[in-house]
Amino acid sequence: MKKFKTIQVELSVSRKEYITPHYIRIFLTGAEVPLLENTTVGVNNKILIPPKGLNKIYFPQFDYEKMQWIAQPDDIRPIVRTYTHRGIDLKTNEVWVDFVAHGDEGPASAWAINAKKGDVLGILMKDGKTDLYGKADNYLLVGDATAIPVISAILEDLPSAAKGMCILEVDSKIDEQDLETLADIEFIWLYNEHPQEGSKLAEVVKSLSLPENSRSGYVAAEFSSVKEIRRYLRKEKQWKQEELYAYSYWKSGVAEDKSAMERHEENAEVESR
Ligand SMILES: Cc1cc2nc3c(=O)[nH]c(=O)nc-3n(C[C@H](O)[C@H](O)[C@H](O)COP(=O)(O)OP(=O)(O)OC[C@H]3O[C@@H](n4cnc5c(N)ncnc54)[C@H](O)[C@@H]3O)c2cc1C
Repeated sequence: MKKFKTIQVELSVSRKEYITPHYIRIFLTGAEVPLLENTTVGVNNKILIPPKGLNKIYFPQFDYEKMQWIAQPDDIRPIVRTYTHRGIDLKTNEVWVDFVAHGDEGPASAWAINAKKGDVLGILMKDGKTDLYGKADNYLLVGDATAIPVISAILEDLPSAAKGMCILEVDSKIDEQDLETLADIEFIWLYNEHPQEGSKLAEVVKSLSLPENSRSGYVAAEFSSVKEIRRYLRKEKQWKQEELYAYSYWKSGVAEDKSAMERHEENAEVESR
């Protein structure tokens, strides 16, 4: 199997900013920031959170013979979660990651809420440039708060000739963000204080008049919403596989590492039919 080049860096918090009451931007710095120079803003990364009381990252080692990670003792094993590479500035020597503050229940959300200058975080990500989304004339961008980083990166990249709709769900009106784009995009903001209990994203998508030609969809949200939206677009609206990227970013009631398999299987099941 082909080895891809992964960059692993241990960085530390340089500053922290509440973008909105439920959205925290964590800036990270360190001697290894320049290693991330050629990565693509908007792609996913793995963040590694050290166990409580440890301010050092023990990166897992991959055994390429057995194609599996080598087990680590509990007292040094970091908690791993998937986030989005939201930005890099080589002049200030910083990268940043935006966290939904969904409470203390999840280790990543809790880490961001409690993070202070000097706290370390490990980052693992693929090196090199990659295409974030399929190019078209018309875009349908749909997500809950966890998708704002990737959808923001897409919006910032779209040319002025692009048109489309962007439907985003956040906790409440004060959690809306000013997202920059040159494209002609109609924004629809939905409010949901309890995203674990369901979402109206799919219902709203079904109520829209969607483009028939030259279209590209990007959907990222909670498992059930993504499943319903993907089935609707692919089966009822006959969107082709290459016209739609739809991926569940979390599953209600289940920690990320416990739901990963199920989320991957659901994606594969629909796309293989
Ligand atoms: C490719 C990809 C990119 C992602 N990028 C980002 C990003 O940039 N920013 C971001 O904030 N998230 C992002 N996510 C989502 C993030 O990985 C999950 O929300 C993750 O579960 C958070 O980990 P945790 O430790 O806080 O909670 P976990 O330990 O995973 O879960 C604990 C509990 O919290 C619930 N939960 C998890 N996330 C939420 C939420 N957002 N709202 C309400 N309840 C929740 C779970 O259902 C579970 O019951 C991304 C996911 C993927 C797959």
